[in-house]
Amino acid sequence: MTLEARAAHRAWMKRWNGNRRSFKTPCCGKRLTVPAPSDKRQQWDSLMTCPHCEVLLMKVVTTESAKGLLLS
Ligand SMILES: [Zn+2]
Repeated sequence: MTLEARAAHRAWMKRWNGNRRSFKTPCCGKRLTVPAPSDKRQQWDSLMTCPHCEVLLMKVVTTESAKGLLLS
């Protein structure tokens, strides 16, 4: 499952032509690159499953930065 999740994330990022930001995941400390908005007025918040360890995270991404927050 984790290998599938990582492959799916890599495939998604390969297709993504927009802005991107990286952060160190709070769950397992791995580096993760995610899509980011190109409009400075936007902030993208979403729940995501870490493709490395499958922990549920809150992801907060702006044009400048990305971070992951543990829910518990
Ligand atoms: Zn993780």
